[in-house]
Amino acid sequence: MIIDTHAHLDMDAFMEDRAGVIERARESGIGYILNIGCDIESSRRSVELAECHDFIYASAGVHPHDVKDIGDGTYADLAALLVHPKVVAAGEMGLDYFRNHSPAELQRKHFRKQIELAREHGRPIIIHCRDAKEDMIAILSEHYPKNDKARSGIFHCFSGDQELADRALEMGFYVSFSGSVTYPKSDGLRAVAKTIPADRLFVETDCPYLAPQPRRGKRNEPAFVNFTAQVLAEVRGLTVEDLNRASELNFFELFGVGSNAKTGTVAYQIRNSLYLNLTTRCTNDCVFCSRLTRPVVQGYNLKLDREPTADEVWQAVGDPANYDEVVFCGYGEPTLRLDVIKTVAAKIKAAGGRVRLNTNGHGNVIHKRNILPELKGLVDEVSVSLNSDSSETYDATCRPLPSFRGRIYDEIRRFIQEAKKYIPDVQATIVTQQEGVDETACEDIVKKEFDVNYRPRRYNLVG
Ligand code: SF4
Repeated sequence: MIIDTHAHLDMDAFMEDRAGVIERARESGIGYILNIGCDIESSRRSVELAECHDFIYASAGVHPHDVKDIGDGTYADLAALLVHPKVVAAGEMGLDYFRNHSPAELQRKHFRKQIELAREHGRPIIIHCRDAKEDMIAILSEHYPKNDKARSGIFHCFSGDQELADRALEMGFYVSFSGSVTYPKSDGLRAVAKTIPADRLFVETDCPYLAPQPRRGKRNEPAFVNFTAQVLAEVRGLTVEDLNRASELNFFELFGVGSNAKTGTVAYQIRNSLYLNLTTRCTNDCVFCSRLTRPVVQGYNLKLDREPTADEVWQAVGDPANYDEVVFCGYGEPTLRLDVIKTVAAKIKAAGGRVRLNTNGHGNVIHKRNILPELKGLVDEVSVSLNSDSSETYDATCRPLPSFRGRIYDEIRRFIQEAKKYIPDVQATIVTQQEGVDETACEDIVKKEFDVNYRPRRYNLVG
């Protein structure tokens, strides 16, 4: 299901054929549309649309262009709209110093007031920000402590730089991209889009404005959100299905609309790889790992009610030849379940599949023997998380079991060297931007000392 998180279907641009546009949205697979209010009148029209269509929801707010028209009764009207059951967000609100249709001082004043109203009503906010990065960050920092994601909101039609994106994420906000990310000259914006974690990403049309590239210059409409989703998926090396699955879960988590991801997922597909979720146990407790707090990857909830048996895992695989590879991972350390790996990998290989193992490299210490000869012929590729250039920073970043500390880093290095003897493809990975970790030194160790492939992974991107 795809979701258009920002539409203005109430505008005059849709006067002639609104019903047809809504019908086309349905036919093109749009699951939900959030229709956005820009002043009291358009907020009321949004509510009327939402009342007439199950799959349309509304927001209520005053756009920064229009705050100069706010009168005595405006906030009472907004408060009345925000309690409507189909009004799931406040806004759009924010700052626009590009057009400056309202004085900047008035924009800041009413942005703060609308945030306060939204928080009183427990509504996420829809943010418009243009050429106002410093003031935007300053005002949001007053109201949204770090990672207060539950009722944060969306930076709509994001057009900012990496710094604004990073600060938005830090404060728990979601980032939404419109058709502008599809334009040929938007390389910078696409580079930012690549760095947004799947659990903070949305896509939108902002229709009738900003039609995506194949329809650029024409009136935009919700059905065209598919073009933008396609570009975003390509930029992020995913399929549109991957992108939509994550957005659907985000929509539920932010607005309570739709459904939660089911738990107990044993096998899940991302791109054309099938991942196997064997366990959530791990011998590390990495500072960047959310397996115990939010075990969600690309819209899949990996919380296991119990660990699956080898038979159950094999059943979940189906036909391994349908995939480019089958990956043993889990949101935990898969080699804790070595017997399951060996049993299922043998069947996958017999059925013509390719096998990858993602591991923290603790397997030989966990099992008190060299397990790599046992994986020969069963595993085609192993990806080992090195994550550090020294034992001290490894222990600080990955927080291994107390009995592993001080020695496990050297054991991982030995594991990687040993893996080359038994597994055709070996790569070592690091999670970037970790305090005290010298990424250049890591790369040198991996390429020069180990002579294996090196893959850095941005700290907040999983899957
Ligand atoms: S090794 Fe992987 S699963 Fe284990 S704590 Fe670290 S990130 Fe999480």
